[in-house]
Amino acid sequence: ADARTPLIAGNWKMNLDHQQGTVLVQKLDWTLRDGKHDFDQVEVAVIPPFTALRSVQTLIDGDKLKLKLGAQDLSQHDEGAYTGDIAGVFLRKLGCEYVVVGHSERREYHAETDEVVAAKVKAAYKNDLTPILCVGEKLETRKAGEQVEFVLAQVRAALDGLPATQAESIVIAYEPVWAIGTGEVATPADAQEVCGAIRGELASLYDQKLADGVRVLYGGSVKSGNVASIMAEQDVDGALVGGASIDPTEFATICRYKQ
Ligand code: PEP
Repeated sequence: ADARTPLIAGNWKMNLDHQQGTVLVQKLDWTLRDGKHDFDQVEVAVIPPFTALRSVQTLIDGDKLKLKLGAQDLSQHDEGAYTGDIAGVFLRKLGCEYVVVGHSERREYHAETDEVVAAKVKAAYKNDLTPILCVGEKLETRKAGEQVEFVLAQVRAALDGLPATQAESIVIAYEPVWAIGTGEVATPADAQEVCGAIRGELASLYDQKLADGVRVLYGGSVKSGNVASIMAEQDVDGALVGGASIDPTEFATICRYKQ
């Protein structure tokens, strides 16, 4: 994992309006700087709702903050009659570097299929955004011991037809659905098993060099108390944090897991 710069990304989900969002970012930045956080050693991204992106971008740009900005979803289409959807080009113009694709809540509540997820990955690259591709099994799949094959099938489907020149920069987040927002965290060994298998799959789809450069994150009830043990695993290169990311003190402590 040391060869790759870790990424801690905070997915606010449908929390914080644009005013609350700017307050959080100010506190987060202040807490990290106060703790002499080295942003080159551990990259930190915030992923607000669409409505807060502009305010957070203004703050990041204006104060030259080192926080990266991401969005929670994008449309697979370029533009047009898709009421309520958000085009990748809009996100890029708002200074987003990352976009979450295929979060389990999108797959579940918006019926996003593997095909839609694959189209969104392509739309992200088309607009110069780095996808944070989410994959993960439900509890029944884990109980059946089929988590690795299930997740690898999701990875293959999402990367279908993606050239190596794009795949080399993807971020993949392994988020077991049973661990999201439940307080039920995967053991470090569970996280390593699937994250390692994802890297192995990238090596067989592309090559080992590409696989060695891709960051594979873990997500699911990450907190300040469990992040270090998960990050100690060889193939875990960061965390996608939901609930704990809207508490600036807790999120800053997660980001500073090395200290
Ligand atoms: C998530 O939604 O990506 C997530 C990991 O949520 P939580 O940290 O709340 O489990």
